Amino acid sequence: MKIICIGRNYAEHARELNNPLPAKPVFFMKPDTALLPPHNPFFLPDFSNDIHYEVELVLRICKHGRSIEDQYAHKYYDAIGVGIDFTARDLQAECKQKGLPWEVAKAFDFSAPVSKFLPKEQFTSPGNINFGLKINGEWRQRGNSKDMIFGFDRIIAYVSQFVTLREGDYIFTGTPEGVGPTHIDDRFELFIEDQLMLAFNVK
Ligand code: MG
Repeated sequence: MKIICIGRNYAEHARELNNPLPAKPVFFMKPDTALLPPHNPFFLPDFSNDIHYEVELVLRICKHGRSIEDQYAHKYYDAIGVGIDFTARDLQAECKQKGLPWEVAKAFDFSAPVSKFLPKEQFTSPGNINFGLKINGEWRQRGNSKDMIFGFDRIIAYVSQFVTLREGDYIFTGTPEGVGPTHIDDRFELFIEDQLMLAFNVK
């Protein structure tokens, strides 16, 4: 399976990192080795001094498809979860400055913890889902999918022009504002609405 991640999909987050608003979706990928195995802590890697958290809604792809039209895109995901797109912000800044690819900053091992998934039918409107991240019991990020620049269907249609989607793939759909640094002994709790979806510790 593969993990596709959308960048700069919430206007306030693009602004906090001084990025322009994109005219079309920006995406990059993480390998399956970026998943954090269940019940494992996240170990801060030693190659970065500034690992940022980004909480994001995650779509689970349920059907093989390429060049999917927007109007049919909703049929290609069947469940929604929440995850963290861990980012080595110091390495990413260097990549951006030099015009280099982002893999060292984004695709590293265990950089994509993902929660359990809830069936899509459980949501009355995929375009209006609250989600968020608490660290050590305090809210650090809270978002709603209505604030996405590109909605789920547009993301699926756009990405599938370039990359075939397969059953079991994940799509991270972008982070709202409030990203920040991760510290040893932090306790992460990820929510969809009021439901605790995933919890893990940082070591
Ligand atoms: Mg992200």
